[in-house]
Amino acid sequence: MDYVKKLIIFKIIYIMINNQYYIISYYCYTYLENFMIFYKDHFNFCNKIGLKGRIIISQEGINGTISGYGESCKKYIKILLSDKRFNKTDFKIHLSKFIPFPRLTIKCKNENINSGIINNSINIKNIVTNKYVNYKYIDDLIDDDKVIFLDVRSHYEFILGHFKNAISLNINYFREFAKKMHNINQFKNNKIITYCTGGIRCEKASLYMLKNGFKNVYQLEGGIIKYGLNTPGKNFIGKCYVFDGRISININTVNPIVISNCSFCNKKSDRMINCANAKCNKHIIQCIQCSHLLNGCCSDNCNNCEDKRIYNGTGIYYRT
Ligand SMILES: [Zn+2]
Ligand SMILES: [Zn+2]
Repeated sequence: MDYVKKLIIFKIIYIMINNQYYIISYYCYTYLENFMIFYKDHFNFCNKIGLKGRIIISQEGINGTISGYGESCKKYIKILLSDKRFNKTDFKIHLSKFIPFPRLTIKCKNENINSGIINNSINIKNIVTNKYVNYKYIDDLIDDDKVIFLDVRSHYEFILGHFKNAISLNINYFREFAKKMHNINQFKNNKIITYCTGGIRCEKASLYMLKNGFKNVYQLEGGIIKYGLNTPGKNFIGKCYVFDGRISININTVNPIVISNCSFCNKKSDRMINCANAKCNKHIIQCIQCSHLLNGCCSDNCNNCEDKRIYNGTGIYYRT
């Protein structure tokens, strides 16, 4: 075998060993009549095959990010797709050196994602009426002045990274979306493309907008993650926040830049942490030096708080 071939094989083995875990994110809106029964079966199954992660089950369907060995994750995907209620689920797969969850948590909730609007305007049966735009068209649409890219995520996610020229509603939680939507009323006649991490928030946001007089609303199918998995990501600036131990992932492989600053010293930084004061728990950008100085707290006030958590160098705190 020649040297080049050996090198390629070595590289493949190296990647396989170092990225032996899968992280899969997915959601599916489907009517689950007896979701408590489904919950029990699902928990037992996930536990048996050794998966970790976070799953929400509701009458509206399922929303999850799970991680484990490739074989277990493939089995999970197969089982879910073989159930006709979930056969349209779109799975987004990343490889990882580690499992970014401390345990398996499955919760039953009122909604797949907390929108705060389910009981009045959003009917899950209508969700299929949304219009989608594929990741392939994003790079062409982004420079069109008449097209508005609306980031429906929380503002701290937007600060860390977003699509070039996108706008944010400056919300702390997705459940504030409906209340702040009037701030973009001037775009009611524009073509609007909503986006979020994986698409689940847009399902509700874009539907809610259509119901409230916005004429031309599309959502990015599969969100930032799908765009990042399938394109070089050149129009995403900064990093994409994710809700697991990775904290953020790279989307742009062509011209990556840091767009955020340490909230304390203002130096360029894309290091996001939670404030060590559990009562505050604010998501902030903080450089390593300032984290040391403030023991991982967002302010002197939080640093002076007696029952703050011990800063462990990462700024990630798992519930014990
Ligand atoms: Zn700093
Ligand atoms: Zn704080």
